[in-house]
Amino acid sequence: MARVWYERRAECIGACRVAARATDSRPITPLRPSNVELLAGPLVSTPPLPPALPGLVDTHCHLDAKYAHKGQPAAGEVLARARACGVGGFVVIGVGEDAAEARAAVATAHAEPDCVAAVGVHPHDAQHVNDAIFAEIAGLAADPKVAAVGEIGLDFHYDHSPRDVQRAVFRRFVGLAKALGKPIVIHTREAGQEALAILEEEGARDVGGVIHCFSEDLPFARRALDLGFDLSFSGIVTFKPATAIHEVARFAPEDRILVETDAPYLAPVPMRGKTCEPAMVVYTARRVAELRGVAAERLAEITTTNARRRFAGLPAAPQA
Ligand SMILES: [Zn+2]
Ligand SMILES: [Zn+2]
Repeated sequence: MARVWYERRAECIGACRVAARATDSRPITPLRPSNVELLAGPLVSTPPLPPALPGLVDTHCHLDAKYAHKGQPAAGEVLARARACGVGGFVVIGVGEDAAEARAAVATAHAEPDCVAAVGVHPHDAQHVNDAIFAEIAGLAADPKVAAVGEIGLDFHYDHSPRDVQRAVFRRFVGLAKALGKPIVIHTREAGQEALAILEEEGARDVGGVIHCFSEDLPFARRALDLGFDLSFSGIVTFKPATAIHEVARFAPEDRILVETDAPYLAPVPMRGKTCEPAMVVYTARRVAELRGVAAERLAEITTTNARRRFAGLPAAPQA
């Protein structure tokens, strides 16, 4: 059924990772965007901005160089473009082969008042984790501007890391989240039931969290909600064949839904094929609003209230 968008996503992430390995990380510097300056500058290679929808939070974006597509505007610029569209809060994900991306995400969260960070190790990179990397990420996770541990989880589609290693690293980071009392951002692909079983076994209910880039079905959604995990919808919800996700977007309780981009991946309709950036969360929010039969402004209000409850440190009143 949903083969079309799954395959497109595979292409996207596969390409990103090849590029990432070739370029590796650049020196980490806090972002200092000047909205006026940046918006006045030439944006020839960037897609047009969506019509503004004030008060949104992008609950999952990658801004570090390692995950950026070739030709993507600098992180400061994409933040400025998103703010111009009414996005007033960002959860910046810091994951990579070592702690470099986590450090970068924390630096961004300290430099930008409307950003908080989440740090962890993506299941793809589980095999690279050693005690030193874990210890450094654990230290960063304790930072007050780090609102969550993640993204962590299981990805049995690509199997970039052996499954046993993925499971062990996942459990270790759930333990970290519990020790810190911070919520967990979950990535799962073709491993949903097992990921939920591990969360249950490890007592993740104590801290709860978010199923990011929700791409499962209704029974999974019910189980995740019962476990204390919110559902975050990405650009996938705008894809026509994603009917199981549409069903979940209609069903999910109002106080348990979030929206995100997962930038630079998964640009929503009508931006398919472009590099995704946080401004595009507007399209995703509008589609979720349409599916639920509520006004887009109301959907923004609901999801932002939920995001602020889930991720400590987001601005109280998102800057439109
Ligand atoms: Zn993910
Ligand atoms: Zn992600």
